[in-house]
Amino acid sequence: MSKINFGGVSENVVTREEFPLEKAREVLKNETIAVIGYGVQGPAQAQNLRDNGFKVIVGQRKPSKSWDKAVVDGWKPRKSLFEVEEAAKKGTIISYLLPDAGQIAGWPLIKKHLTPGKALYFSHGFGITFSKETKIVPPKDVDVILVAPKGAGRSVRKLFVEGKGINSSYAVYQNATGQAEDKVLAMGIGIGSGYLFETTFKNEVYSDLTGERGVLLGATVGIMEAQYEFFRKMGHSPSEAFNETVEELTQSLIPLMAEQGADWLLANCSTTAQRGALDWKGEFKKAVQPVFNKLYKSVASGKEARRVIQKNSQKNYRQGLEKELSEMRNSEMWKTGAKVRELRPENWKKKI
Ligand code: NDP
Ligand code: MG
Repeated sequence: MSKINFGGVSENVVTREEFPLEKAREVLKNETIAVIGYGVQGPAQAQNLRDNGFKVIVGQRKPSKSWDKAVVDGWKPRKSLFEVEEAAKKGTIISYLLPDAGQIAGWPLIKKHLTPGKALYFSHGFGITFSKETKIVPPKDVDVILVAPKGAGRSVRKLFVEGKGINSSYAVYQNATGQAEDKVLAMGIGIGSGYLFETTFKNEVYSDLTGERGVLLGATVGIMEAQYEFFRKMGHSPSEAFNETVEELTQSLIPLMAEQGADWLLANCSTTAQRGALDWKGEFKKAVQPVFNKLYKSVASGKEARRVIQKNSQKNYRQGLEKELSEMRNSEMWKTGAKVRELRPENWKKKI
């Protein structure tokens, strides 16, 4: 394990050099990894583990498209592809890669097969951290571990195939065998991680839920709506309001920030923009700090988890979601967005 200094704070990080694939294979040589669920993470992690030489089986309900996809990917029914319960019975490391609501529904089947010495593996801290809400409480004599790839499921496989890797966070919740630390690192390296950052189940899920409700999704979409609607109220045209709220940000500014940070972004703006951004960022920061406080409390109290579980378990959840998304799509702001996207320079030729 190395210490890496992040802006003055030292964190535990494990690299492939410190924990090579050969060591991972040695640690897991007597284990059968049962990957439960073949949605987004399931196929990526199961195939990477298989290609890296681990003993892997897949557990997937059928009939389903996911089962068919597993067959196409080379998993053999009754040899390496089973129904969920059968796989859980055969596996010694049960990799529980169902969505949060699916994990709740499938738990009784999994729990039955968590015999002493097995390990229960997650890629998200939700089920364990919010056990009051999810009822996911593993027996005391199994290891409970987590590897959460940072980034979309698709990249886990894509980057592996390209010979690269992803970064992941890892955590041990329960170390019943004394081997949980080695097992989690071996799994992390096995699924193709390059760097493994230490965390806890609780911190992983608190930051994930807060981040997506905050800057990553909720806050950004909300602040965009506020600015667009304000411009419109002040008599600006839809295209002007949209360009100055979304288009410039996504098309030209965010890539600069991704490249070299906020100071680099500002260094590449006009002096007028720089001055204004530096003067006003504090005011915006102050305005939203109380919202983060409220949001984090809502996450930590389990309120967000309860809401997600309750919403997801409604029969008409999909229709309800589609209604909300289509309202967004059909709002003046996002209809303007669709038109602005059509007029991007790369589409000029097609139009003329
Ligand atoms: P998906 O939504 O893609 O999982 C779908 C799979 O779960 C399918 O195989 C589906 O089967 C099965 N499934 C769903 N509900 C049930 C159920 N009630 N009973 C049995 N099987 C069920 O999940 P993800 O791959 O997105 O997420 C898996 C885990 O990984 C989660 O903990 C998530 O938080 C975590 N994660 C996901 C990331 C991502 O990018 N998606 C990134 C990092 C972590 P069927 O086809 O039959 O419906
Ligand atoms: Mg997230």
